Amino acid sequence: MKTSTTKIDIQKASRSKIKNVDFNNLSFGQVFTDHMMVCDYKDGMWQTPTIKPYGPFELDPSAKVFHYGQAVFEGMKAFKDEKDQIWLFRPEKNFERINKSSERLAIPAFPRDYFFTAMEELLKLEREWIKKGFGNSLYVRPFVIATEAGVSAAPAKEYKFMIICSPAQAYYSGEVRVQISEKFSRAADGGVGFAKAAGNYAAQFYPTNLAKDEGFQQIVWTDASTHEYLEEAGTMNVFFRVGDKLLTAPTNDRILNGVTRDSVISLAKEYNIDLEIRRVSVKEIIEAAKSGELKEMFGSGTATVINPISGFGYAGEKYELPKLEDSYARFFKDKLTKIQYNQAEDKFGWRYLVK
Ligand SMILES: *Cc1c(COP(=O)(O)O)cnc(C)c1O
Repeated sequence: MKTSTTKIDIQKASRSKIKNVDFNNLSFGQVFTDHMMVCDYKDGMWQTPTIKPYGPFELDPSAKVFHYGQAVFEGMKAFKDEKDQIWLFRPEKNFERINKSSERLAIPAFPRDYFFTAMEELLKLEREWIKKGFGNSLYVRPFVIATEAGVSAAPAKEYKFMIICSPAQAYYSGEVRVQISEKFSRAADGGVGFAKAAGNYAAQFYPTNLAKDEGFQQIVWTDASTHEYLEEAGTMNVFFRVGDKLLTAPTNDRILNGVTRDSVISLAKEYNIDLEIRRVSVKEIIEAAKSGELKEMFGSGTATVINPISGFGYAGEKYELPKLEDSYARFFKDKLTKIQYNQAEDKFGWRYLVK
């Protein structure tokens, strides 16, 4: 995989912006590094990937991404260890997933070699932007958009695959309270819920604003047909701890198959945590909350790794969760981050060294 023959055009920025950045005061996804990767698709093929100075670019106003939403993305992180080595976490999963997302939106697949070679070249160029120390990382955002001009409703014949990078600190989102959805849906059977398609997020903003007005930060979506089963949150998969049993919904075409979720499941198995991957009903979670058996809820996703949920709302009632010393959330976060920062053995082969 590392014996790449892919050629990349590299055009370096004349000066770095890094001196203007306060790395102790970053808000997530606001500052971007000096370079970006751009690869155009035209005449039926992906052209030579280029790395160039980060900045705006022009598109025709009729570009299909603006009208028909052919856009997918990924989210991953690069970490630096004490020896200044740069690591990615399971990037193969993100590569596979962006092409799965693309396929569903009729976007041509991106070649593996381009993806890895271009990303590694970009990360090497931006190595100063990746700071050492727990919590620090470089958030990497690959995405694809349809750039062909013309408003006929058909898949575009031209695209841009791009990678941009944003330095990140430990993401502390404060207390997260979630509302269980009774009316709105995120995804439907046969739809695009499993894809990281841009439109999935646009569709969540309005219901999430309504939930915010009622004091919740996020929504936990339920199945679109009955609203009886819990699925996932806006950008996180969701786990429940009832007694000492860990529960999470199986992935399907409505639920995004999170890399963090998959990693939590592997760790739960390794550490003999009682785990059930099955449909989780709203009713059982409400009953468990009432009887005191519901010990934890947490979300899993690249940005926050593990995000504890402090309470939830359903049908006008609010429920608080206990604050545990020995939470599963803390356990998984500790195990995962130690692997990510090369501070623990990597039994599963999840780390990927950027050479
Ligand atoms: C990205 C995302 C997740 C989390 O996936 P990770 O691979 O763990 O980052 C979960 N749900 C949705 C809807 C997402 O977009």
